[in-house]
Amino acid sequence: MPLIEKIEQAVDILRRSAVVVVFSGAGMSAESGIPTFRDPGGIWDQFDPEELGTGSGLLHTLTRHPDRIRSFLEATIDIFLSAKPNPGHVALGVMERMGYVRTVITQNVDNLHQEAGNSRVLEMHGNLFRQRCLACGKKQVSEKTSYLLHIRRALERIGRLDLNAVLRELPQCRCGSPMRPDVVMFGEQVQDMPESFLEADSCSAMLVLGTSGVVYPAAALPQKAKQAGAKVIEINPGDSVYSGIADVQIPEKTGRVLPEILKRLQDA
Ligand SMILES: [Zn+2]
Repeated sequence: MPLIEKIEQAVDILRRSAVVVVFSGAGMSAESGIPTFRDPGGIWDQFDPEELGTGSGLLHTLTRHPDRIRSFLEATIDIFLSAKPNPGHVALGVMERMGYVRTVITQNVDNLHQEAGNSRVLEMHGNLFRQRCLACGKKQVSEKTSYLLHIRRALERIGRLDLNAVLRELPQCRCGSPMRPDVVMFGEQVQDMPESFLEADSCSAMLVLGTSGVVYPAAALPQKAKQAGAKVIEINPGDSVYSGIADVQIPEKTGRVLPEILKRLQDA
């Protein structure tokens, strides 16, 4: 089926759906220049997730190979500083204002959905620019650019990274304890689980965007929506495991397809 017909099909479903929920993954961020962590050429190809993706790994690496932590931070700071919402993110923001999107559930930690104007975003893997107190659990959100520049300046200032230096540079909670980045590391519990599954259970259509469907439990959300009777629209240029359940499958970039969908919704 030609691309244009698939887009028309997706638009038709969205028009007839009372509640549309978005489920997005790394592919959407990749279109904004953030390399996927898991794919070949991604972050975990250059850096060892055992060393940098878990709490105990980080502590160990900080002691034995602090330069690896420095390289990891330097490489990622530049990526996140220059990443901007792509046309797909922007279209979703407009669709929310038009009443077409109720909630965005994302596995991404880069805050790009909020920057594009979506107000209800469930972040299953946390948010890189939010901090959580190690003692009392209180959370706070930092402005992205100043937060990243603070880390970059700290790296320039600090000679050798060690635990004391890191603890000194982490934001402080009012209770006096350091605050860690509120992202889900390997082996940690995902966030917003009950809310996300409730969204999947209660939507009439789910837009599945740029996710390969391999990271559980988040990956089960489209099946959950389908079982509850929702239509599933998948937009993803890569391989997917949702072929069996998608009512419409569009193997294209979200930044190309979502603006086309939006244009047709606005014409209605
Ligand atoms: Zn605290």
